[in-house]
Amino acid sequence: MASKPAAFAAVTPAIVEELRGIAGASNVIVDAERLEAYSHDETSAEEYGRMPEAVVLATDTEIVAAIVRLANRERVPVTPRGAGSGLSGGAIPLYGGIVLSLEKMNRLLELDVGNMVAVVEAGMVTNDLAELVQGKGLFFAGYPMSLQTCMIGGNIAENAGGGKAVKYGVTGRYVQGLTLVTPKGDVVRLGGKLSKDVSGYDLKRLVIGSEGTLGVVTEAIIGLVGYPTAKSDLLVLWKTPREAIDAVPAIMAKGLAPTSLEFMDRLSIRASCGYLNESLPYDEAGAMLLVEVDGSDPAKVEADLIAIGELCEERGALEVYVAEDRNNIERIWNVRRNIAEAFKVQSPVQSLEDIVVPMASIPEIIPVLERLSAAYGMTIPCYGHAGDGNLHATLVKDPGMDMATWRRNEDLCLRELYAAVRDLGGKISGEHGIGIKRKAHLARLVDPVELELMRSIKLAWDPNGIMNPGKIFDPDGAPVPDGAPGMAP
Ligand SMILES: Cc1cc2nc3c(=O)[nH]c(=O)nc-3n(C[C@H](O)[C@H](O)[C@H](O)COP(=O)(O)OP(=O)(O)OC[C@H]3O[C@@H](n4cnc5c(N)ncnc54)[C@H](O)[C@@H]3O)c2cc1C
Repeated sequence: MASKPAAFAAVTPAIVEELRGIAGASNVIVDAERLEAYSHDETSAEEYGRMPEAVVLATDTEIVAAIVRLANRERVPVTPRGAGSGLSGGAIPLYGGIVLSLEKMNRLLELDVGNMVAVVEAGMVTNDLAELVQGKGLFFAGYPMSLQTCMIGGNIAENAGGGKAVKYGVTGRYVQGLTLVTPKGDVVRLGGKLSKDVSGYDLKRLVIGSEGTLGVVTEAIIGLVGYPTAKSDLLVLWKTPREAIDAVPAIMAKGLAPTSLEFMDRLSIRASCGYLNESLPYDEAGAMLLVEVDGSDPAKVEADLIAIGELCEERGALEVYVAEDRNNIERIWNVRRNIAEAFKVQSPVQSLEDIVVPMASIPEIIPVLERLSAAYGMTIPCYGHAGDGNLHATLVKDPGMDMATWRRNEDLCLRELYAAVRDLGGKISGEHGIGIKRKAHLARLVDPVELELMRSIKLAWDPNGIMNPGKIFDPDGAPVPDGAPGMAP
């Protein structure tokens, strides 16, 4: 466990007894074997993992509130947790304390078709919501690629994006209301079944993307749209990643509004195909674009897809395949969805990045990655939501490189990459968040005034600093200067 700041207390046997009294003995975990599952997320457990002292499986909002009140009284850290699929260490209990898991709060509370909203508990698995509403001809559009495992509360806390964000936007666009347990243990309902609300500060928006540092989301009112009945996909093969990425702003500038515009370089495709035992026609290709268009008018969907295909051919695409049946479309998307998992298995020592730049600047990123790859002797495969300007470049350790060199090169490489991204008007995370993984870099790169405002907000909401401490920024730490040692956490 990272050394606990003096302000935090340990979870004593008396506190465990009190937790059992609140949540029920079977919902309180203290044995090390079962605690282990809550000590990491999808970042490297070896590098970032920390053991909690207790895990509580909450079953309703009042129980969450009572636990948070107890933790606030005793100064014990609380880390909210969904499925633990996060990629920045957000759900890791950096200073031990209590992990508050929402996994048992997984009910659909109401499907209000008249208002086009679903009211759900925060522990509902995202895909369960998607499937439940689809049965009523409705669509939850703001979901990430990890929808089979992640939970709505985690999506809200990270303001998750995904493969359809080009057209539909990210999770936050669909969050109309929230039930939040504040770090003092009060319950507050923000927003409602409303599509407009300027009644004071928009606290709901502040909670969205705050990575569990401002409270525990227990319920959410999720806006829905009509399920798109027509859908068609293109797989476009390019000789080089650069040609593929250069086509992205050209497609967007045509106003053709694809639903998805995903980029995969050759290494990413190969890794995922190998992992899935799948084969795609990529032998000649250095990169692919996966383009989806959807809507309610099949003729319009078809026309837009043909226009995008023609544009790609004019720009020198090697091949343009139309994925005609649902099976083929699902096979291709499965390859795209499994890239991160495939790299984890193939190259466990890596740094999965999440940079985002203004869409028109995305062609400038590939040459930066090529330069950094040569300079630091590492492979940097890349894939991601190119239509959003959001790329998952992944720094991969060469098997021949020793760990000390890897750590130094990783840090130097990230510094250069993030500086290039900043100079293009971009940010270091588009959807995975800061968590522990990018905290030191954020402190170095963010405007000090912005950082100070964030710290003031945290202090006002959470004066004892118990809610997910050590994430995004340190409440009273000074910005980390350039050249400071130990930038890589
Ligand atoms: C294969 C793979 C693909 C992925 N694809 C995408 C993608 O396309 N887009 C994307 O955005 N992300 C993606 N992710 C990352 C991850 O799935 C998302 O960040 C997801 O939203 C996390 O949800 P979770 O329930 O797993 O949250 P967790 O990992 O459990 O927690 C994430 C953060 O949210 C906080 N939190 C969780 N629940 C609550 C709550 N109820 N109240 C307050 N705070 C809470 C935690 O404290 C933590 O800071 C992917 C991950 C994997 C492994």
